[in-house]
Amino acid sequence: MSIFYEPRFKSAAGNLPPTNPLFWEIQTNQSDMAAFHAANITREDPIGKGGPFGAQLWLVNRKTNEHVLIGTVQEPEDSNAVVSKGQASAHAEAESLSPEKRQQVKDFLKENAEEGWEVVQVSSAESCPSCRSKQVAFANELIVEDLITSGQFHVVFKATYDQTKEDAGFNDAPYDQTFRAIHELGVLSRQEGLFDLEKALLENLGASAQFHSGELIYTPVNLVDDDIVPDNVLKIMRDAGEQPVAVIVHPDGRILGQSLDERDLGNDGINLPEKTAIVRAIEKASTYLRDKESKFASWELEKATVYTNIRDIGPMAYSGLLWSDLSEAKVVSSFATDLVDEMAQEVPGISNRNLFLQVAVDYDSRKSPLSVVFNGDPEDASVAHLVWKARMQAEKVKNAQAVRMDELVARPDLPKVRMIDGTYINLSRLVETSEVSSDYDGAKGKGSKLEAKPL
Ligand SMILES: [Zn+2]
Repeated sequence: MSIFYEPRFKSAAGNLPPTNPLFWEIQTNQSDMAAFHAANITREDPIGKGGPFGAQLWLVNRKTNEHVLIGTVQEPEDSNAVVSKGQASAHAEAESLSPEKRQQVKDFLKENAEEGWEVVQVSSAESCPSCRSKQVAFANELIVEDLITSGQFHVVFKATYDQTKEDAGFNDAPYDQTFRAIHELGVLSRQEGLFDLEKALLENLGASAQFHSGELIYTPVNLVDDDIVPDNVLKIMRDAGEQPVAVIVHPDGRILGQSLDERDLGNDGINLPEKTAIVRAIEKASTYLRDKESKFASWELEKATVYTNIRDIGPMAYSGLLWSDLSEAKVVSSFATDLVDEMAQEVPGISNRNLFLQVAVDYDSRKSPLSVVFNGDPEDASVAHLVWKARMQAEKVKNAQAVRMDELVARPDLPKVRMIDGTYINLSRLVETSEVSSDYDGAKGKGSKLEAKPL
């Protein structure tokens, strides 16, 4: 199957959920319905806490047919929190793989070892490469600790990338396509690894055609010498020594965020890839733009550059780069060492290159520890996506109505409006209070619920 002709979801065709498929069909749709309600909440902020996506995390046992949901009755599942957190990667699956929930899974698997429990992540839509990195990292962590075996981490999803793009306007496929091309073109088996990415993509006919048409989006990773690195960045690099470090520099020269690797591998009982240097620096830069500059889409870092001493960039960091509107990652060669790369491993004990490969391969590859199941219907839209689309369109109509009103009011021939019972109604009020009309329950001749005001 060529990645340039076939969408990724088709490679999941041979995979089945671990227990009753009808049960999982109910759960994927339940996640979609939960996301539908989350996206339908009327708030001052038209898009509330985040996009129209939902996820769940389960432990299941085929032998006993037991299913354990990681959550509470009050909060059985998670939804997208990109807006409320101001972070590009706060997707529903990532929220449901929070450190606390991962710890609950690990504790349960340890307490119930050897009983054959498996993990299932349910998602209302196909996971993006950032979330897949988190799934792969967690699966590896559980495998390394002998809590599950490869293939016992399942991901069951409803809407494909194409459906999500079509119905809700979110398009993950071009970012994922870069991951697929990295595998297809053998970038990670070349000695230069990601430093060869740009060349490999542009030299390949399929990849370069998709890049030019916008179907493939990548962030170049280049090795650079000290002389092109700003002095304040060099100082941060020197201070970091052999600790992994990342610095995000705006095109205007401001440092938006910087971070060392903040994990305490000796004491953190769990891997915390969200505390790795590049991921943390991106998060800090977003927080800076949101808090200091009140920027709404604070996850867009305005074509900033990331400087780092990490040569072997992992999949979670790379998807963070793709997601955050960064122009380039510059690896400063004089500070890059093997020790830095080892300390920057997103899953300690596995090289980032190996982890990257597991995230990049298609769903039918045995190199991936995940078993991904497409449990939706390409003809059947996600309801959360549809309500999202309607809300976006409603915002557009509302804004356009306000503009039309201003235009009309400025004219000398402003129409005079009144109700049939003689009450006058302010035209702008009629336009603004469309919500009141939604109480209409059939013509009874009771007159309008609108407040009548003289013009
Ligand atoms: Zn995601």
